[in-house]
Amino acid sequence: PTTTVHTGRHFLQIPGPTNVPDRVLRAIDMPTIDHRGPEFAGLGLAVIEGAKRVFRTASPVVIYPSSGTGAWEAAIVNTLSPGDRVLMAETGQFATLWRTMAGRLGLEVDFIEGDWRHGADPAAIGARLAEDRGHTIKAVMVVHNETSTGVTSRIPEIRRAIDQASHPALLLVDTISSLGSIDYRHDEWGVDVTVGGSQKGLMLPPGLGFNAVSDKALAAAAANTSRRSYWDWHEIIAANRTGYWPYTPATNLLYGLREAITMLEEEGLEAVFARHDRHAAATRAAVRAWGMEILCADPREYSSALTAVMMPDGHDADQFREAVLARFDMSLGTGLARLKGRVFRIGHLGHFNDLMLMGTLAGVEMGFEVAGVPYREGGVRAAMDVLSGKARP
Ligand code: PLP
Repeated sequence: PTTTVHTGRHFLQIPGPTNVPDRVLRAIDMPTIDHRGPEFAGLGLAVIEGAKRVFRTASPVVIYPSSGTGAWEAAIVNTLSPGDRVLMAETGQFATLWRTMAGRLGLEVDFIEGDWRHGADPAAIGARLAEDRGHTIKAVMVVHNETSTGVTSRIPEIRRAIDQASHPALLLVDTISSLGSIDYRHDEWGVDVTVGGSQKGLMLPPGLGFNAVSDKALAAAAANTSRRSYWDWHEIIAANRTGYWPYTPATNLLYGLREAITMLEEEGLEAVFARHDRHAAATRAAVRAWGMEILCADPREYSSALTAVMMPDGHDADQFREAVLARFDMSLGTGLARLKGRVFRIGHLGHFNDLMLMGTLAGVEMGFEVAGVPYREGGVRAAMDVLSGKARP
């Protein structure tokens, strides 16, 4: 048997974890210091303040050594108790997983069904809240960027729908695959808990979970008697005031976070978002030129973090992905749950530039050839024309 030797760099084009910049890797590659010592406080305060700027909030941001799933749980157990009713929207697999967790934690979930091609519908949310005259719904929980489908929900419109219904429900938003890649404003958009993770737009390895917490969410947590310990915000926020944590934080990932925030701010958040918008537009131009369909059905909801591409009938997306991995050493995102085999996902979030995009799209186009997937030529060219400004997206 022969083993394929791959040379050059692996292309990690799944929608997270994303490529970690060398600067961030170098920052992590430092001695682990005393997390109760004086040097640590400077790091702690820098990352807490920096995270607030990325979430665009003046409120506390709690940083956990956890995956995104842990930060989901933290958002729930701090603000809600078993028996509480919540309203969620079925945007795809991640919304479904969050709903399953909510159910396990004893919440009663009203799940607005969706077709996995649209974002959360502000009108449907508004209508459900308007019907709830007794205000039994305690929270609206939405995934901002649905990583399984490449659909971005319109959070400001959802906020307006809640306000128009004059409903006091908290607004909990998952930004795990949007933060640092797609415009997001915790304070301005009136979000109560924003859930984040380290391994996507923040350009870090997996291992940090985030909760940005509004005053209203803090008040709800203070009044909430549900059982919780590790995830409880109270002690963490108190310790964070001086740059420390009540337990051992992920010191080296925090070095990386400090560097990643520096990089985002050197470029400027607006420029970061514009960069991803442009790469997403070029990707969509390629998909259309190939004669394929974008899973996201509403152009207002196109994701700038990833694009999910529907496979031509009779062709398996995972066989195609396997061919691309074997031949070109590039990882593309798999179709999750009900989308298994039917879509593949191109990640264009995080640490990314024009030539990484073109390499990715060339790998996809060459992969169609290798895997015998029917396609029209010209996708790579169409993307280049968007990047050069020759074609309007
Ligand atoms: N929410 C979204 C939108 C995600 O994309 C993911 C992971 O891909 C999660 C939640 C779960 O995060 P984790 O896998 O870090 O636990």
